[in-house]
Amino acid sequence: MSNAPKLIDPFHRAITYLRVSVTDRCDFRCVYCMSEHMTFLPKRDLLTLEELDRLCSTFISQGVRKLRVTGGEPLVRRGIMNFFQAMSRHLESGALDELTLTTNGSQLARFAADLASSGVRRVNLSLDTLDQEKFRRITRWGRLPQVMDGIDAAQRAGLRIKINMVALKGFNDDELFDMVEWCADRGMDLTFIEVMPMGEDIAGEERLGQYWSLDDVMERLRTRYRLTDLAETTGGPARYRRVEETGQKLGFITPLSHNFCESCNRVRLTCTGQLYQCLGQEGMFDLRKVLRDNPDDDAAVIAALHHAITLKPRGHDFDYSRQSVSGQMTRHMSHTGG
Ligand code: SAM
Ligand code: SF4
Repeated sequence: MSNAPKLIDPFHRAITYLRVSVTDRCDFRCVYCMSEHMTFLPKRDLLTLEELDRLCSTFISQGVRKLRVTGGEPLVRRGIMNFFQAMSRHLESGALDELTLTTNGSQLARFAADLASSGVRRVNLSLDTLDQEKFRRITRWGRLPQVMDGIDAAQRAGLRIKINMVALKGFNDDELFDMVEWCADRGMDLTFIEVMPMGEDIAGEERLGQYWSLDDVMERLRTRYRLTDLAETTGGPARYRRVEETGQKLGFITPLSHNFCESCNRVRLTCTGQLYQCLGQEGMFDLRKVLRDNPDDDAAVIAALHHAITLKPRGHDFDYSRQSVSGQMTRHMSHTGG
């Protein structure tokens, strides 16, 4: 298979990275992500596992080299291990460089070994606090020991773990150094995420109180560590720095800044088959309709992908700068996939 990228957007960016949300459901209700009483989509609206396979495989045939499975919580989707197993054929053929997932870790104890045997090598695991009571508060329904068991199982299975921590002022600012050191002790990298204004009933003014700029996080880290800027980028909103004292890599995801749009290499597929070309824009293209209208016509699906990519905007509009939330998104992260 040729390595030449085939999906090129109007701003000459090659699309090589697909994030696919396989469910809108979750066993947690993180306060910044979901309301407590969510209405989930009817099953018929979701892409079936076969449809997900067809669509992801078509993306891969058109130059996508990295597939990240997300949600909702991807590991609560029934039969999801069959999907991972099916996608592993693209790793074996060399068409895909990396198959990975973002998870809350609650089901990892069950699935870590199967993930590893499907060719998954790395997992992003979301964890905002090391305190059981705070964990319950932020996830509403989660239990920290279950996640810790998942981390143990994943490490035993040989999976590398990167922890994603949403930086929340007044919530986990006091755990900054504990988290860095806990991750270093366990050989895990750590990425901080700035909280984004997502979801109609939980976003807005209330969120601003919790907004903790990663510039501030960095300043605090520099009071204790020497941080060296790393040049590497994944084409996304993360920038990396090395902690000289521990050797570990820290990531800083600032989705509200525009500094990464120029190199954006990714698109996001929702669990209902909508392709969002930009995390911060409402624009999308309905690939489920194309799939269902053309059950035997792969050329039509390929043509639709190329068309959808021509609609990718230059960048997004998030802006906290005037202390009001403009560019606010009404869809939830759990729908688009973080
Ligand atoms: N359930 C999985 C998990 O929690 O890792 C995967 C889906 S979750 C939507 C993906 C990531 O989005 C998580 O790291 C979560 O912390 C992050 N996230 C959710 N809502 C967010 C928000 N409003 N701002 C910033 N990050 C958010
Ligand atoms: Fe679930 Fe992940 Fe959203 Fe938390 S952030 S509610 S774990 S989808």
